Amino acid sequence: MRRLKANFGQTVQNGYRVWRVIDADLLAVQWQADLQFLVQAPTATQRSLVAQYQASGLSNVDWVAATGLEPGDIVSADPERSEVTVLYRESDVHHSLQLTNRCNSYCLMCSQPPTLQDDAWMVEETLDAIRHLTVSPQVLGLSGGEPLLLGPHLRTVLDSVGFQHPGTRVELLTNGRLLADLDQSHALLNGLSTPVTWLVPLYGHADFLHDFVVQTPGAFEQTLSGLLNLQRYSQPIQLRIVLIRPVLETLPALCTFIGRNLPFVKEVALMACEPIGFALANRELCEVDLLEWQESLQQASHQLARHSVPFLFMNAPLCALPRALHAYAHRSISDWKKVYAPACDACQMKSNCSGFFSWYERGWKPAKVIQIMNEEYVA
Ligand code: SF4
Repeated sequence: MRRLKANFGQTVQNGYRVWRVIDADLLAVQWQADLQFLVQAPTATQRSLVAQYQASGLSNVDWVAATGLEPGDIVSADPERSEVTVLYRESDVHHSLQLTNRCNSYCLMCSQPPTLQDDAWMVEETLDAIRHLTVSPQVLGLSGGEPLLLGPHLRTVLDSVGFQHPGTRVELLTNGRLLADLDQSHALLNGLSTPVTWLVPLYGHADFLHDFVVQTPGAFEQTLSGLLNLQRYSQPIQLRIVLIRPVLETLPALCTFIGRNLPFVKEVALMACEPIGFALANRELCEVDLLEWQESLQQASHQLARHSVPFLFMNAPLCALPRALHAYAHRSISDWKKVYAPACDACQMKSNCSGFFSWYERGWKPAKVIQIMNEEYVA
């Protein structure tokens, strides 16, 4: 999430209130009594205009001044720190909202280490953000932590997306473990009309492999049961495999397992590890050079193709993949996280390449950067 330095009008308080950023000349068109509006007002003249709105009874309008804000941004305000957090940016290619920081797993490479505190306010913030969107996104990511820990509130969030943005597909990132419970899966999935794709990680073809990566005994069995329950309710599933060392060591076997036992999944995403959070603490297990695992990637892809399971690569720059797999690479890194290395400037594939997470310099790149010129790797 982007955090920007900001000044606010006097009615803006700290708290879990969500605001839509707006240009003054659009206020008359977009104003609704049940929404909150922050008018971009860097000058005294613009602020006095907002004061006039307030004096005429618009109590849900105030002003903000911050470099880097855009009209349509959905934000939360922190006047005590003179900070605004952009929860959602209309002009981004990828859109997502975070539902909780809590999690019931403890993955070796977790990019967002879980916290224990009650953060039910995040659900309220998400529901508020969904209400404040000006334009319905085609796809809205929902993530945690572990969203299933929300219990019935998750269904409330999904129903809210479906009601207010009927053309939007949700992509929900979950470890799927709590869906092993028949009552919980029934309560969540029965009659669900909001289109959801379930993004569920699987890290091994045997319990001890998966359970080691997620650092939770019993997780493999629960996730498999959860996947079967999703299938029972005809829900589309994208399996997610993060390419860290213990996973890469048995990756072809995992893909064979998926092809044989989970052929109903919509697709499998093979993802380079994000070098942040627990991945930095478990660097010896998480830092890999994908160029050294080309054979494993090719075998894994072959197994998925052999079983007619669609697959794609995410977060992996093109030069980290065998050329035969370039067609499966997806530009998946969110705009605000994505950067390129200086050497990328001369690469002819830059416009098709996912690039790197912006924090790669503190961590690592998924492979050595090798420019591609005229379809040749140039070391
Ligand atoms: S050199 Fe840079 S732009 Fe080219 S494929 Fe590698 S990472 Fe992508």
